[in-house]
Amino acid sequence: MAQYDLVIVGSGPGGYVAAIRAAQWGLKTAVVEKDGFLGGTCLHVGCIPTKVLLHHSEIFEHLQNAAEYGFEVKDVKVNWVNVLARKDRIVKKHAKGIEGLFKKHKIEAITGWGRIAGPGRVAVEKDGKTTEIEAKNIMLATGSEARSLPGVEIDGKTIVSNREILSLPEIPKSLVVVGAGAVGVEFASIYKTFGTDVTILEMLPRIVPLEDEEISAELDKVFRKKGVKIHTEAKVESVKKDAKGATVTFKDKDGRTQTVAAEKVLIAAGRKPNTENLGLEKTKAKVERGFVHAGPYLETDEPRLYAIGDIVAGLPQLAHAASMEGIIAAGKMAGKPVPPIDRNRIPNATYCEPQIGSIGVTEKQAKDAGMKVKVGKFPFIGNSKASILGSHGGFIKVVADEKYGEVLGVHIIGPLATEIIAEAVTAIQLEGTVDDMMFTVHAHPTVWEAMGDAFNAVRGLSINV
Ligand SMILES: Cc1cc2nc3c(=O)[nH]c(=O)nc-3n(C[C@H](O)[C@H](O)[C@H](O)COP(=O)(O)OP(=O)(O)OC[C@H]3O[C@@H](n4cnc5c(N)ncnc54)[C@H](O)[C@@H]3O)c2cc1C
Repeated sequence: MAQYDLVIVGSGPGGYVAAIRAAQWGLKTAVVEKDGFLGGTCLHVGCIPTKVLLHHSEIFEHLQNAAEYGFEVKDVKVNWVNVLARKDRIVKKHAKGIEGLFKKHKIEAITGWGRIAGPGRVAVEKDGKTTEIEAKNIMLATGSEARSLPGVEIDGKTIVSNREILSLPEIPKSLVVVGAGAVGVEFASIYKTFGTDVTILEMLPRIVPLEDEEISAELDKVFRKKGVKIHTEAKVESVKKDAKGATVTFKDKDGRTQTVAAEKVLIAAGRKPNTENLGLEKTKAKVERGFVHAGPYLETDEPRLYAIGDIVAGLPQLAHAASMEGIIAAGKMAGKPVPPIDRNRIPNATYCEPQIGSIGVTEKQAKDAGMKVKVGKFPFIGNSKASILGSHGGFIKVVADEKYGEVLGVHIIGPLATEIIAEAVTAIQLEGTVDDMMFTVHAHPTVWEAMGDAFNAVRGLSINV
């Protein structure tokens, strides 16, 4: 029986990153992956393909607005087949890249369905045959799948999930997006820009409901201005296919029944953890509603069994969270000094147009928790690079401790929000104060320098507004 220091089940951004770090620490590592390629949801049907399509939609928008930049561009047409082909090329290139990294680090990739067979044993099933491998440590990194609504069947053609919507044969004329979290608003953004008539149905009172309330309000305003129809507090009751596509019936916020018909319906109503048929029932690991409970080093209640990524209870379902969890768990099992995972130090990035980047507490969360905070806000209208880019909507909002000025939360909506949030992440990671950040020199002209103005805003000292 093959023996390893670590066997990881799942090769997404949690599993593959953990494998490389474990190998760097000298652990003999294998990764079991059910699909015939490495990279998981993120690379194949998540982060990467969506960002390719978003980038293409932005280029299309620039070309349509070419006159604004002094260019005469006529008859801009989308060649959808070529757009999809470029997306697939990028995905394939990076999947090959992971294969190369595995070779470099002597990590064994084993294709098949992985399952805990007993303490220190993983069973791998492929083509009806099961083999067992021995593992000093086991790490589950099996990720998540789209969750549907009760009574709604995702048929993959008319009613689609994040998987199928990435390869639609044509740009749909109309689309209903059920769910306005990150996945929902990103697809709404992509297809609206490509000319689709988009309607968003969100059950909660606001879109991007996990973000600061002012961020939700700003995105709502911009989306409506672009012509996206939005219904919040909308409770979907049924989705029925018909000759032209599908009809969605929902109760609106006033309790009235409404219907909306569209060529395609995207169900983006959350992700369910892949924890069935993994042998978890044979372990002491605590599983609740499918999510695995893990400690600060991603250890479960079963000795030498770790869980990382989208399957972990109470942590965000994000690629960079999965990767850091894998790095921490690998370091822990290799006996290296690693910090515990801190939920408040994990940024959120939503790549719709306008982009959203955020980290830490929102103003409301801070106030609800009885924290005494000061808030500063800086609008991108005062930032010269944002004007050059032709994108000066939105703002940066900083939530800081009232007494010491420690940066507790930063919420950005506007140009390059998912990039410039980096400074806030570092500030929070290093427990910086707004006063430290006010004397941090920001290069000019950059969108990033708006961060300097936002930190100054907490003390009422912004320069450019
Ligand atoms: C449309 C969309 C866009 C997204 N965009 C972003 C983004 O921009 N940024 C971001 O941070 N996050 C984004 N996410 C979330 C991100 O994709 C996930 O948080 C991330 O992929 C989770 O990583 P993971 O390693 O836990 O699992 P996954 O990436 O889901 O990988 C799990 C792997 O395990 C394999 N597997 C499952 N069960 C078994 C088994 N029993 N045996 C063997 N193999 C198994 C699967 O085949 C898969 O390859 C997006 C998600 C979606 C759906």
